[in-house]
Parts: sequence; structure tokens; C-alpha cells
Amino acid sequence: MGSLSVRDAQDCVLQHAVIRDSEVVNLEASLGRVLAEEIRANRDQPPFDVSAMDGFALRSADLDKTPMALSIIEDIKAGDTPAKIVRPGQCSRIMTGAQVPEGADAVIRVEDTRALSDENVEIRLAVKPGNDIRLLGESMRNGQVVLTAGTEITPGVVGVLATVKCAQMKVFRRPRVAILSTGNELEGITEPFDPNKIPNSNSYALMAQAQALGIEPVLLGIARDDPEELAQFLRRGLLFDVLLVSGGSSVGVHDLVRPTLEALGVDMHFWRVEMRPGHPLAFGTTSSTLVFGLPGNPVSSMVCFEQFVLPALRRMMGHSRLFRRTMKARPAHPVKIRPGRTEFIRVVLECDEANRKPGAYIVSSTGTQSSGALLSMALADALLIVPSTSSGLAAGESAVVQLLDGAEFQCDPGFEGGA
Ligand code: AMP
Ligand code: MG
Repeated sequence: MGSLSVRDAQDCVLQHAVIRDSEVVNLEASLGRVLAEEIRANRDQPPFDVSAMDGFALRSADLDKTPMALSIIEDIKAGDTPAKIVRPGQCSRIMTGAQVPEGADAVIRVEDTRALSDENVEIRLAVKPGNDIRLLGESMRNGQVVLTAGTEITPGVVGVLATVKCAQMKVFRRPRVAILSTGNELEGITEPFDPNKIPNSNSYALMAQAQALGIEPVLLGIARDDPEELAQFLRRGLLFDVLLVSGGSSVGVHDLVRPTLEALGVDMHFWRVEMRPGHPLAFGTTSSTLVFGLPGNPVSSMVCFEQFVLPALRRMMGHSRLFRRTMKARPAHPVKIRPGRTEFIRVVLECDEANRKPGAYIVSSTGTQSSGALLSMALADALLIVPSTSSGLAAGESAVVQLLDGAEFQCDPGFEGGA
């Protein structure tokens, strides 16, 4: 099982990516985590009938003809408990969020009334029973399941958790991730400049990809292409839930990662995927660790992270939406490729303003697509995906693009927002 299609390789990785355990976090630190328990309402919400407006609580049956003068018996502010029962011919002045008094069955907003004196108000319109009242339990009932295990904690979910006074909750533990770069040619970020060396960018690009998912990885540094040194680094890496190794995964004589992992007891599942960039991608497991042997080429390593590492990490964090969002778009120019491998082309995404087609997007290449040209990745909003059976796309042909971090935001609001 050396070489797999992208889909088969994803399936294989996900079979081994399992949720490990949960931990308790404070509400303040819960954003982006995934609930590991179901959450129930701790009371009816609203806990009583409340006014949706500043106005007057009254008996709708009193308004058989309008305008109608009513006498004001009480002022009820939010947080007050009403003291008086509203009887025929009476009303209470009431503020938004305040409890509706006994006897009243509707609220009329102040704009539809006219003050006659401190004690009397003229009601100008008839209202139906229930008008501008938020009913007891209308948004949630006591004991009702409001959030299920597996829910991602978004700002809206944080609001619901606060509503049910859940100050701490069980969430799935985030996987611990280690990153190791390998290669004699690599120069560390603080090492003096050497014209014969190559800067270690992969450790940092992979670190940032993990951080974008809410994971703070540990950088193990650079291992030289030496079996002893590599084994020492890999042993440390195997103490983590996920180990990302960059470089040394192809079949050159200095590509020691695969044999060294095997010697350390890692069960290798595949080491090539039919994709471009990213062909030499290895994946193995121990009972406690997923190991990705990512290609050394900077773009390949990042593209492989997006296709394989990201869904695995998201599953381990408890998410059910594992993959980056895809959508349809049309290339602005022809795209030629060699068939045989799924191709991931770095592209910029724009609205198709020229054709004025609502919801239509066009993509254009970020420039040279060499797997060493990291700028192509830095500039990209998305990856244009060309299936392995295709030899390319014509300009304007419908295609699938996978949105990268940040591509979900746009420059304009995208709607009028006026009256
Ligand atoms: P390898 O997969 O080890 O054969 O590496 C392929 C190419 O990727 C090498 O020739 C390096 O130029 C480059 N490369 C490997 N590791 C890194 C790294 N950590 N950062 C940047 N480039 C790298
Ligand atoms: Mg190497």
C-alpha cells in the first residue's frame, strides 16, 4: 500500500485520528473548543413574561374603541417585581425587559400613546393579546437540551452557555503536536547566514497552520540527516499525539525518515499520495501517536497539511466538520497539467464583477507553481483542485476551489444594509 489517491489517503488518516479525552475549561477560554457534554437550560428563559418595548402594559379588551384613556397605576423598570394587578381601565408604565404585571395581556409601545398627565395616558391603537410580550420559556424551557456534545463553541454558543450560567464546561482535549524539520542543508532562524544553506521555513509555516486551528505546537528543531541524531529527535516526537516531520520522506539515500520511524516501531500505512505537489507523503502510527512524514518542499508540506493533517487534528479536537470549505469557481485563464495526479494550484479568488453574475467567483494563479516557491502559497486565497483524470481546464470552465485561511472574509459588506 505504498501509493494512494488523495481520498484513500484521507480515509486512512481519519481511521486513525480518534478523540482521546476531555478537559474542563472556563467559559472565558472556551471559544473554538468543542463541547464534550450536553448542556441543558437551568430554568425557563425568559423566566416570566417580559415586555419587548418601552410602553404600557394593559388589558387588550379595554381597547374596543380608540383613542382610549387609561389610568397609570405603577412604573415597572427592568429588574422590578410588579406590585399591582392591572384592572379594567388601568395600565402600568413598563420598560423593555421588565416583568409584565398580572392582569395585563399586552404591551403597547410608547410611540403609539400620548401622555395626558402623570396619572393618565391616551392609547391610540388597539392591540391583540400578547402584543410585544416575550412569553415565559419562549427561547428555552427548563431542562431542555440546548447544546449537544460535539458543538463547536462559537461566540453565539458562548452567549447560550452564559445564559444557562455554565461557567465551566467539558471540552475535548486538543492534541499535543510536535514539529521536526530534517536535512543537513537547513539553517535555523537565528543561525548566521550561510549562502550554501536553506532557511528552515517549514517548521514555522507548519506551526502557523496548527496555530490557525487553535493548537500551540512544540518545535523540536532541526535533525541532521544522520540515523542516530534523527532517531533521537523522533523518539522525543513520539511522546506527542501528533508528530509532523518535514523532509527526508522520499526515496533518496539520505531520506532516512521512513526507515528510522519503522525501526522505532512506527507502523507505516503509506508513503506516497497521487497528488501534486506533495507526492512523497508518509503516514504511520503507534498506539499513541500519528506521524506525518511531510515533503521537504515548502509548498508541498503546507498543501499536505491542509489535506491530511488538518482534518486529522480537527477530528481529534471533536469537530464534525473536518475539511476546509470548497466552492465552485472559474479560472480566468487556461490551466494545463499532466494527468495522473490530483493537482492543487495556488490561486487568488475574486468576485466575477465583469460578468455581474451574483455569487460567481473567478480564480487566477498566484504565479510560478514550483513546489519550492513559497510566495505562491503566501499570496493564495485558495487551492484550485484539478482531478487526476483531467489534463487541465479551459478559461471559464467550472472547477472546485478549496478556501484557505482568510478567504472567508471579503473587502465589502456585500449587502446594502439600508432601510
Ligand atoms: P527532502 O524532502 O528532504 O528531499 O527536501 C526537499 C527540498 O525541500 C530540499 O531540497 C529543501 O530545499 C527543502 N526543504 C526541506 N526541508 C525544509 C525546511 N524545513 N524548510 C524549508 N525548505 C526545506
Ligand atoms: Mg532532506
